[in-house]
Amino acid sequence: MSLIVELDADGPVVRGGAPERPPPKPAVPANDGHGDVRKKTVPVIKPPAGPSASEWEGGKYVSLQEWLDGEGDEGAILLQPADDVRALDGRIGNAALISVDFHRIGDGRGYTHAFLLRNRLNYRGRLRALGAVTADQVFAMARVGFDSFALRADQDANAALAALGTFSVPYQSAPVAGAAAARAAANSAARVRLLERALGAIAARHERAALASSLSAEDLVITDVIARLGLPIDVFTLDTGRLHEETLALIPQIEQRYGLDIAVFRPNESAVAAYVAAHGRDGFYDGVAQRKRCCAVRKVEPLARALAGRDAWISGQRREQAVTRGALAEAEHDAERNMRKYNPLADWAWADVLAYAERFDIPMNALYARGYVSIGCEPCTKAIRPGEDPRAGRWWWENQDSKECGLHTTSLTSR
Ligand code: SF4
Repeated sequence: MSLIVELDADGPVVRGGAPERPPPKPAVPANDGHGDVRKKTVPVIKPPAGPSASEWEGGKYVSLQEWLDGEGDEGAILLQPADDVRALDGRIGNAALISVDFHRIGDGRGYTHAFLLRNRLNYRGRLRALGAVTADQVFAMARVGFDSFALRADQDANAALAALGTFSVPYQSAPVAGAAAARAAANSAARVRLLERALGAIAARHERAALASSLSAEDLVITDVIARLGLPIDVFTLDTGRLHEETLALIPQIEQRYGLDIAVFRPNESAVAAYVAAHGRDGFYDGVAQRKRCCAVRKVEPLARALAGRDAWISGQRREQAVTRGALAEAEHDAERNMRKYNPLADWAWADVLAYAERFDIPMNALYARGYVSIGCEPCTKAIRPGEDPRAGRWWWENQDSKECGLHTTSLTSR
């Protein structure tokens, strides 16, 4: 192994037999307005496709099957993308290290392995990523539980080290120093205080207010404030039946973390069956009308049930998320449901959400680390590239101005 990068709390630390470091390159923004700068100036850590390694610093790796077959419970396991990590449930023993092999860039299964190991199997030992990983992924990996990253012998350590000197949008903020850092921290703290005050006021004004949570980072920020302040605001979510496993996995995680009960509303089974009979299960790809009908069945109708009897609802929408949200007000009147609707994060930037997530260590959907920014149903959501519009990954086959699901567009007036 030529190079190991430990992802410590203070940032990446290079260990192992790395060759002489090149002169440091000046930091550059990831996007200069003309595309992704990293693709022009910063090499990605890109090895040829294929298995990464057979040894770690303590000896030979064993495969998942060898570990399960073996009698010993010490050593290091090397997981491959197709492995079923759940087979390790109760079988991890005293593993000194679990490494996850990323054979090729774009194969996100290693993230799912990390998510399952950390959140389902409660693995607290060393977790390492190997192989085909881009610069921004190295940092993002820390968020899903990896604590080190290793190149294999045929990878260019110099290129990797140069790449680590850059940062990614939207997952990493630019390094700020001195007064700028203090100003950013003060702004962030002020935003949090305003949010706390806004949610406190909603709770005081309404007896039956609820947060409609899509389990996004934004909604988890609001959930965190509700729980920290003990506000009498209910939290519910809509399980459309087409969500990612990673999204659904957040529900028990949040309930356990905050001691909250999240009410889960599902679509009407006969309405789903009628939609599938008329349009096919994935009929939403055939046109905007079919897509909106699917959203109406799987989202809008369950939302109506969730909001029945309430006097206010809260969403985590932000203005910068989409052109359709550019004029979003912080407080609106939902005329169709005759109740107040609040968007307390309307003027928050994505960086504000990330700053909050980091400061309060809130649970995050593992998909964020795989390039997803706006997360909805699995077949209608994809990862985006740095610098792309945040909603570019939602209903990507449609025009920008049709990208709403009907949850937030019904007869709303500001104030
Ligand atoms: S986002 Fe896609 S799968 Fe989900 S309800 Fe809308 S059309 Fe259906």
